[in-house]
Amino acid sequence: MGLEIITLVLGPLQNNTYLLRDPATERCAVIDPSFDSQEVLAEIDRRSLKLEMILLTHAHFDHIYGVNEITAKISGVSVGLHPADLPLWRQGGGSELFGLKFTPTEQPSIHFYNNQHLTLGGEKLEVKHTPGHSRGHVIFHYAPDKIVFCGDLIFQGNIGRTDLPGGSMQELLHSIRTQVLTLPPETRLYSGHGPSTTVGKESETNSYLA
Ligand SMILES: [Zn+2]
Ligand SMILES: [Zn+2]
Repeated sequence: MGLEIITLVLGPLQNNTYLLRDPATERCAVIDPSFDSQEVLAEIDRRSLKLEMILLTHAHFDHIYGVNEITAKISGVSVGLHPADLPLWRQGGGSELFGLKFTPTEQPSIHFYNNQHLTLGGEKLEVKHTPGHSRGHVIFHYAPDKIVFCGDLIFQGNIGRTDLPGGSMQELLHSIRTQVLTLPPETRLYSGHGPSTTVGKESETNSYLA
């Protein structure tokens, strides 16, 4: 019995916030809580889940905005981020560039590194460092069901923007080629925005990767 994935599309940038539920233990993790995270809290409450971790693919404000709201309501939740995105985190995720003001109240307590294993109940996720969209961008690979949560690294028919501070097109393409396109083609990619896709579909049709 693998992880159940509940997708919530939240906020003005149509962010995908993912709730991962381990059915064996009813423990859960949230990936990239965005705006309107009271919807995440409602879902956790409705299903009587125990939230253990908030996992962040990167520290852009639209992916971290819900952390304050969730940790204010549920105590003892670990927040995970790659240390290379800590400066971005402290700056509110670049929110000022978008005319917003956001100040994180928490400090990340899990410091991600490449090939790190995370445990949720009886299930394991692997962290892969994928810089290019931001310096500390990571993706989460759930190998048993061939699933990757890939944040703003790659989208259906598109790739992450590299024009924001810390961005690099060369690094982004390298990250995609070494950490995503090396996976089995049927591997499903759950992106930070838009519909899910697969490794095979993107390697064949994504014009940015030609
Ligand atoms: Zn981003
Ligand atoms: Zn984003």
